[in-house]
Amino acid sequence: LRRPMVAGNWKMNGSALLAQELFKKFAAKLNNDAVEVVLCPPTVYLESVRQQLELHREALNGSIVRMGAQNLSQHDFGAYTGEISGGMLTDVGCKYVIIGHSERRRMYGETSDVVAEKFAAAQKHGLTPILCVGESGPAREARRTFEVLAEELDVVIEKNGTMAFDNAIIAYEPLWAVGTGKSATPEQAQEVHAFIRKRLSEVSPFIGENIRILYGGSVTPSNAADLFAQPDVDGGLIGGASLNSTEFLSLCAIAT
Ligand code: 13P
Repeated sequence: LRRPMVAGNWKMNGSALLAQELFKKFAAKLNNDAVEVVLCPPTVYLESVRQQLELHREALNGSIVRMGAQNLSQHDFGAYTGEISGGMLTDVGCKYVIIGHSERRRMYGETSDVVAEKFAAAQKHGLTPILCVGESGPAREARRTFEVLAEELDVVIEKNGTMAFDNAIIAYEPLWAVGTGKSATPEQAQEVHAFIRKRLSEVSPFIGENIRILYGGSVTPSNAADLFAQPDVDGGLIGGASLNSTEFLSLCAIAT
């Protein structure tokens, strides 16, 4: 029922050439609609990815490849130097946008309130937010994982209503696993994913049942099979391994 998703978050990496390389491989090997593939390049390369999508549309043969952005402004337009609005992202062909990534929360001072506003802005402009949540290492050690996750979810629910999750993806990205080479175990991921799903189910069983929850944090082709096999893990949000076309394609195959 929930189509698995593999989303590549390039962060501040990649190039137009990487887009070309990926699509060459997709065209030759992806060839299935059992997985939804999402590419989230830096904003300046969205157009390169869009061009590659157009160019390879036929060869993709029904495979589902979509574009996402890594961030957006909570505002619609105006004097916000350096910012990009949801309308602009829709305009260049994005379907998704990552919201509340831990790097943005920690390095760019995005508070939970700002994250909730960005979530609303995304939906207002027809984008599906990929909402990142996750606990820090110390929070896990202090057994505060569920508390942190509940807080992060509740702020968005309070501002947007539970029904807003009808059009959203959640990514569980424990901070201690992001870019560290130390992934959560399949059991740890499953435990948290089940918690998130249950929390949403309490308000809407339909949403709980249907929302896709991705795992992110040091996913590679060697640990993905066990993670993706967990009943409440619907795919992955991939950082480092999304920059290697062979590894990324292999992750797409594993998710199928
Ligand atoms: P890594 O896969 O590099 O750990 O990054 C995960 C991530 O932050 C994806 O958004």
